[in-house]
Amino acid sequence: MGGATLAYALRNLGARVTVIERGDFLPREYENWSPKAVFTRGRYRNSENWYDATSGPFRPGVHYYVGGNTKVFGATLPRFRETDFGAVDLHEGVSPAWPIDYRDIEPHYARAERVYRVHGTPGQDPTEPWRSGDFPFPGVAHEPAVAALADSLRGQGLTPFDMPIGVDLRTGGGCVRCATCDGFPCLLDAKSDADVCAMRPALAAGNVELLTRTTVVRLRTDPSGTRVTEAVATRDGRELRVVAERFVLAAGAVNTAALLLRSGTGSGRGLADGSGRVGRNYMVHNSTFVVAVDPRRRNDTVFQKTLGWNDWYRDEGPHGPLGNVQTLGKLQAPMARVLGDRVPAPILGALAAHSVDLYLTSEDLPTPNNRITVDGADRVVVHWSPNNLAPHRELVRRTTNAMRRSGYPVVFTRRMGVAVNSHQCGTAVMGEDPATSVVDPYGKAHDLDNLWVADSAVFPSSAAVNPGLTIAANAFRIAADGELAR
Ligand SMILES: Cc1cc2nc3c(=O)[nH]c(=O)nc-3n(C[C@H](O)[C@H](O)[C@H](O)COP(=O)(O)OP(=O)(O)OC[C@H]3O[C@@H](n4cnc5c(N)ncnc54)[C@H](O)[C@@H]3O)c2cc1C
Ligand code: SF4
Repeated sequence: MGGATLAYALRNLGARVTVIERGDFLPREYENWSPKAVFTRGRYRNSENWYDATSGPFRPGVHYYVGGNTKVFGATLPRFRETDFGAVDLHEGVSPAWPIDYRDIEPHYARAERVYRVHGTPGQDPTEPWRSGDFPFPGVAHEPAVAALADSLRGQGLTPFDMPIGVDLRTGGGCVRCATCDGFPCLLDAKSDADVCAMRPALAAGNVELLTRTTVVRLRTDPSGTRVTEAVATRDGRELRVVAERFVLAAGAVNTAALLLRSGTGSGRGLADGSGRVGRNYMVHNSTFVVAVDPRRRNDTVFQKTLGWNDWYRDEGPHGPLGNVQTLGKLQAPMARVLGDRVPAPILGALAAHSVDLYLTSEDLPTPNNRITVDGADRVVVHWSPNNLAPHRELVRRTTNAMRRSGYPVVFTRRMGVAVNSHQCGTAVMGEDPATSVVDPYGKAHDLDNLWVADSAVFPSSAAVNPGLTIAANAFRIAADGELAR
């Protein structure tokens, strides 16, 4: 999201841009929409193992393709709330302020919403930040079961809203509202992923080129250590050196940190690591799947990801802010494995046929000990101890009650573990002070003259909504307002 959006932003600014991508274009094929291929067989999960510092290897939920994780994302594209850019008192501590205000990024949110074809309905969500213009496209209508849930929630005094989403439902657009969107690639290129909406238009401009299947393994600097001179990469088993005037990292928060750490001087610190913060402050949200079942009614919804509610986002009760609730793509039997490995497939199928499925997100706090390191065998190690969990449990409790009141007597919940790291951020934080941050407010490394970071690694806090649109808006901001493009 960060890299492709930045390439798109730079395409008309006179720069010659080379994007280096370790993956290839994701193939368009029948399996794009096969739940068995995607969820049971993990056809598109092509990452190497990472290592949980306490429990060992795991296969992370990252995808190495042109477009990165957005090739399989759910395309829910909300803005962060205006308050998310200031300091927020959470149950276990203070979520730090960003070095920018909402008004600094608002015009870039508007541009990102146009580029990523966001559909939404203004004025429904009380926590929604002010906006300089309308959503580019109207909100996506709910199917009957979701509309009935929205009515019931309203009857309980809650304020559900149309979740902003990037699918091509414009007049003549290619989206057919299928059942295989969230977690799947789009066979029709109608999902607003970073490959379709940013990378391909950038390549069409003529001054942007793309090296696929090319993994950057380290950055080298001049003897002073203040200038990156080349990126060392491997392509089909051969070493490749990419020489440039300016370098931007957008490898995803974990891999961006790993690359900086691998490019360090051997003193134990990474490149651009005068603050010692590279890899630290890893955040990933506290997240829970909720599967609410009414055994008496089938849920025939096809495209379910249309509804959200933020009534407890700013909760000022004893738990502090709780977070966001949104519908998930409709659960199907192979995906229902999230409920447990031992449940027999026919039971999973029956549950999925009668369920409404939700994703709950609460903010987590940046702490120095939640961090990414690279071990002696060059492996990515994730040190993660979830924090601020009490508000998340309260969010799960209130959501469970709301779903029961809406006529779903059986509610299963499953909190996500270390491998579900789709909302990773914070590992090369931005700030004014070089002693406490890795990059400045425009993404430029404090310690180097020609290195920038343009992905979620720069986030000082994780907020409690999906990060994609903020990553894109921030990339637009870096290209427009910083010295990168001058
Ligand atoms: C199943 C799923 C559902 C999601 N749903 C949503 C959603 O609904 N809304 C939302 O906002 N977000 C969602 N997300 C999260 C969203 O996709 C990410 O926040 C976003 O893609 C992160 O952008 P990024 O630029 O930081 O990293 P990425 O988009 O992951 O891009 C990083 C890129 O760098 C490449 N790369 C990594 N290392 C190297 C290297 N060493 N050399 C060369 N290339 C490298 C990768 O191949 C990749 O293309 C979802 C994610 C998943 C997995
Ligand atoms: S719902 Fe639309 S955008 Fe999503 S995968 Fe299906 S056709 Fe593509």
